Amino acid sequence: MRNVILSRGTAADIENQVNKVLRGLGNPEPPLRLEDVRELLKLDRRYYSTTDDSYLRETISKLTVAGAQIMKRPGLLLEAVRKLDLRALYLPDRKRILLDSAQPDAKQRWNEAHEIGHSLLPWHEDLMLGDQEQTLTPGCHVEIEAEANYAAGQLLFLQSQFRIAANDSAPGLAAVRALKGTFGNTYTTTFWRYIEDSHKEVPMIGLIGQHPHFPKDASQPGLRHVIESPAFKSKFDSLANENLVRALRSYCQHRKSGPLGAGEVNIADKRGDTHVFLFETFSNTYDCLTMGTYVRPYTRVVGF
Ligand SMILES: [Zn+2]
Repeated sequence: MRNVILSRGTAADIENQVNKVLRGLGNPEPPLRLEDVRELLKLDRRYYSTTDDSYLRETISKLTVAGAQIMKRPGLLLEAVRKLDLRALYLPDRKRILLDSAQPDAKQRWNEAHEIGHSLLPWHEDLMLGDQEQTLTPGCHVEIEAEANYAAGQLLFLQSQFRIAANDSAPGLAAVRALKGTFGNTYTTTFWRYIEDSHKEVPMIGLIGQHPHFPKDASQPGLRHVIESPAFKSKFDSLANENLVRALRSYCQHRKSGPLGAGEVNIADKRGDTHVFLFETFSNTYDCLTMGTYVRPYTRVVGF
């Protein structure tokens, strides 16, 4: 899962830092226990909430959020957290990770790994960092956040261990579900990584967004993220969201959660040749995840 904005050199630096940690832990089997990582790195983790803000009662004079230094004069950390809607922070002077306890459990693991990522990268060392929902998303394009997300992915998916396991499976949502169990990460992050970091030769596309038949908010675009595998990127142009949503409507059932079905979808490549993909969709009620996997070149059936 190398974000396009990271240079190969930066990615390699991050991989080295993560590799040192994993070696320090004796190259563990999945799932990675973050408490072991914290112990090795001597990191302190605390939670804050609206009712318990004891770890936010300190005065700070600078804070970096999404790559920008904010705060003109010293203020209370608590106020910055509220005003900027921060979900997680890293305070380098105490080697402390602060997590918003109101975040869903499933997200805490990624958020914590993201902050561990900040703590690992020497060039983030002096920054007091605050994270919002956006900066904690693997697709964030702010450089230092993309770096922390890259480190988080390297840690939680144990570098090449995930790719090796994923390459051993047939592409599809069943494989994502199985690997979610093995590595102990969320359905969404596992799904994201599967598409970006496995089956290098297979064009795959991942869609994350609203239910095609029951959009919670019809004013929003139907898809929040479109993830293209490296092979997809090299052979196909990006598709318009409305065409993708139309494809989903063609086969998705009207139930609200669980598997919504599968269907073949034709996609033209950069040269104008048509290919068949198998799309399958799963709804976890919050999001719909769709995985499209290359099947074969399209051949028109000629009748008599
Ligand atoms: Zn961050």
